[in-house]
Amino acid sequence: MNCLICLNRHRTELSFHTYLTGEPLICEACSSKFKLEDARRCSHCRKKLQPEEVDCTDCYFMSSRFAPVDHIHCLYDYDDWTKELIFKYKFKKDIVLAEVFAALLKPHIKAMNCDMVIPLPSSPEKIVERGFDHMAEVVHRTGVSFQQPLKTKHRVKQAGLTKAERLQDSNPFYIEGATAPRVLLIDDIYTTGLTVHRAAQVLRQEQVTEIGVLIFARV
Ligand SMILES: [Zn+2]
Ligand SMILES: [Zn+2]
Repeated sequence: MNCLICLNRHRTELSFHTYLTGEPLICEACSSKFKLEDARRCSHCRKKLQPEEVDCTDCYFMSSRFAPVDHIHCLYDYDDWTKELIFKYKFKKDIVLAEVFAALLKPHIKAMNCDMVIPLPSSPEKIVERGFDHMAEVVHRTGVSFQQPLKTKHRVKQAGLTKAERLQDSNPFYIEGATAPRVLLIDDIYTTGLTVHRAAQVLRQEQVTEIGVLIFARV
C-alpha cells in the first residue's frame, strides 16, 4: 500500500503481527521521523529545559493562575516534521492524515485510565472554515469512544499574542452535558499549556476530579 504521508509505495512483510494489526499506514522512513529528543525535561509537562532553567517556567507560570492538571503525556517534539504534518492536516485540510494521528495516538489513549475521552474542540468558526473539527476527527478515527461536553465560544487566534495578551483573553470554554470523574483531554500541540489549563478549569467546576492530558507534539 501507499504511505499516507510520503505517498510512496511500501511493502510490509506479512507476519502474524501484521495479520492482527493490519498493514501499517505509513512507511518505515516516515515512521522513523517521529521523535521525542532525549533531553533534560520538566517531569510534569515534558518541556525541554534550558541549561539555566532549574524549575520549569511554563509550569510555574500556569500554577500561579490555574489548578494543575494531573498528568501530561506528550508523544513527540513539535519539530519540522510534526509541524509540517499538522500544517498539512489543519491548514491544507489533508483530512486523510487524521488516520496517521489516530494510529499514533490510539495505543496511548487505550493505556490511560480514564472515564471519558475528550478531544479539545475547535471554535465554531474554525470548524466552518476547515470543514472539520480537527481533534474530534482524529479521536473518532481511533475508534475509541469519546464525548464532547467541552464547547468553545470563540477562540481568538493565539499565535502572535504575547503571554499577557493570551491571559487577558477570557476563557473560551464552557461545559454542555455530562462529564465524568476522570477525563483525558487530547490535543495536537502543547505550547505554554494555556489551552488545556483553561479547559481543565471549566471541567473542575463540574466535579471532574482527575484530568489527564495527551498531546501529540510538545513545543
Ligand atoms: Zn512514507
Ligand atoms: Zn513543566
